[in-house]
This record gives sequence, C-alpha cells and structure tokens, in this order.
Amino acid sequence: VGGSTPSWGSIVRLKAWALARMFVSAVLLDGKGLSRDIEDELKIRVEELNKGGIKPHLAVILVGDDPASQVYVRNKENACKRTGIKSTKIILPSSTSEKEVLDLIGKMNEDEDIHGILVQSPTPKQINELKITNKIDPSKDVDGFHPQNLGKLVQGDTNGLLPCTPAGIMRLLKNAKINLEGKKVTVIGRSRIVGMPLSLMLAQKGVDATVTITHSRSKNIEQICQSSDVIIAAVGRPEFVKKEWVKNSSVVVDVGISRILDKSTGKNKLVGDVEEAAMEVASHMTPVPGGVGPMTIAMLLTNTVVSAAKKGN
Ligand code: NAP
Repeated sequence: VGGSTPSWGSIVRLKAWALARMFVSAVLLDGKGLSRDIEDELKIRVEELNKGGIKPHLAVILVGDDPASQVYVRNKENACKRTGIKSTKIILPSSTSEKEVLDLIGKMNEDEDIHGILVQSPTPKQINELKITNKIDPSKDVDGFHPQNLGKLVQGDTNGLLPCTPAGIMRLLKNAKINLEGKKVTVIGRSRIVGMPLSLMLAQKGVDATVTITHSRSKNIEQICQSSDVIIAAVGRPEFVKKEWVKNSSVVVDVGISRILDKSTGKNKLVGDVEEAAMEVASHMTPVPGGVGPMTIAMLLTNTVVSAAKKGN
C-alpha cells in the first residue's frame, strides 16, 4: 500500500494470474477481417459480372430519420462502394404511408436493373414490416426474410437467399473450423431476423448441431448455457450473459449491439449481450464491435451479387 515494495507472494500471484489469463483467453472470431476477405472475393465477382454487362445493384429504402438506421444504411452504402456494387438510397419522410412504400417496392420489383431491395428496419409504426417483406420479389429479397426464402431453409435448401446475420454467423464459425456436429448449441432469442432462422441453419443436415432455443419465457437459461458447447446471444440486453454462465472452452457468439453510458469516460460505448469477461473462459468469442456486425453486411453484399448473377443466367 502507498508505495511499499510488493511482497514476493503478491508478485507470484500476479504472474500466475497473468499466465492463466494468457492461456485461457478466447480466440477472437474476427468478423471484420473475414468480411474484408469476403469483400475482396466479391469485388472480383462484380468485375466479372460487369464484363458480362451485369451491374449488381442494391436499392435501400430508409423511412424516417432514426440516427442509428442512418448509420447502418451509410455502412451498407460504403461497403457497396468498396466492392463495386451500385447502391441507390431512397430516403422517405417518417409520415410516409404503408401503401407508398409498397408501391415503391412494386416498381423496384419490376426494375430489371435492381437486383436487391432492402427496407431498413425499424420502420415507423404505421408501416407493417411483415407486409413489406412479403411484397419484395423473393429473387430480390437480399435480407432473406421473405416466406419463400425462409420456407426453402425449412426444407433444408440453403442455396437460396439466406438471412444475413445468421448466414454471417455460420460463415464465421465455419471459417474458424468450429465443428458443430452433435454439439449442444443454445440460441438466446427467437426473432425472425436472427434467433429463429439461425436455429434452423444450425440444425440443418450437414451442420448437425443439437439446438436449444431460449426466449423471454424460458426458465433456467443460466443452467442451459452452462451445459452448452456453444452460446449464441441475440437478446438485445447489454451484458445479459454472465461469465459464470459460460462453460470452460465453449464458443460464444455475441449478436447484440447496445449503446450504454461508460461511467469512467462519461461517453457512450457499444456493448454486446455477453459480458466481456466471458473471454476469460470461452475458447472462441466474437468481439463487439467487429464480430457479427461486419459479417451481416458481407452477407448482404453476397446476396446482392448472387441475385445479380442469377439474373444473368
Ligand atoms: P428482438 O427481435 O428484440 O428479439 C430479442 C429476443 O430476445 C426475443 O426472442 C426475446 O424473447 C428474447 N429475450 C428478450 N429478453 C429476454 C430475456 N430476459 N431472456 C431471454 N430471452 C429474452 O431482437 P433481434 O432483432 O433478434 O436482435 C437482438 C440483438 O441483436 C439486438 O441487440 C440487435 O441490435 C442485435 N442485432 C445485431 C445484428 C448485427 O448485425 N450485429 C443484426 C441483427 C440484430 P421473446 O421472443 O419471448 O420476446
């Protein structure tokens, strides 16, 4: 205390802690790096399509002025630019009616030059997102939410347009050579965007995980997680999953993104659905940011290029 020389005991304890930390710290599942590799591959595919007279084109509709949505749309536009995909952004006032958006989608469905249509979520309350999803031509449904595309997934056909966040997570796990066959995977969250389609992908033949889906009415999530080989958290609650819930050497995928006040700096910071300390016990874990988020965008670009290539056939 107060500048006294540390005892040998405390030095030894500190060294032991540092050593333990070195050995048990999770391997980061680097979504940012992998997404850049995918973008490099896509850039080449886009150039090839351009030579054949096809210019992959993504149309993004943003209704209202939600600041977070503006950031997400800008990130998507920038990613399109990096890969040579044409992007068109249509910004509509928050007072726009559902019919106006549906009519615009109808026109885009007919437009031969547009290969992907995306309506940024969330939409203002007068617009029903399910109706929007159902209106998009399934061949241009680059979000992968249309019932026809989700139906294919239920049938075991993964060659269609797949929902971007779940597809990004599967790619990240595959890239890290994480074998899911027979593994106990717990998915926290059952949204139509993340949890539910992801659970289907994990249970597909060939992937062969044993999947437990948990949600706000589930009981004993902590114990379920403690017996899981893989935990995938898509809850939207900051640091919901605690380090103590994570079994030694299990894999943790953190889908959540929440903005909270960092008391030490007085500034906002991004956190996931899993306590960062879980890194100390997990074998692999996604960082937030830089994990699942960039993979979602990479899969959106992939779907746009796939859709454009199919039009060329
Ligand atoms: P959502 O539609 O709000 O779904 C949240 C899910 O979590 C629901 O199924 C809900 O259960 C469940 N849940 C809520 N409280 C719970 C609790 N106390 N215990 C257990 N389950 C609980 O959210 P989402 O769209 O799936 O997104 C989830 C998070 O991922 C958000 O932070 C979102 O921002 C983030 N996200 C990130 C990306 C990315 O690219 N990184 C993409 C999409 C989403 P019920 O069904 O019972 O209500």
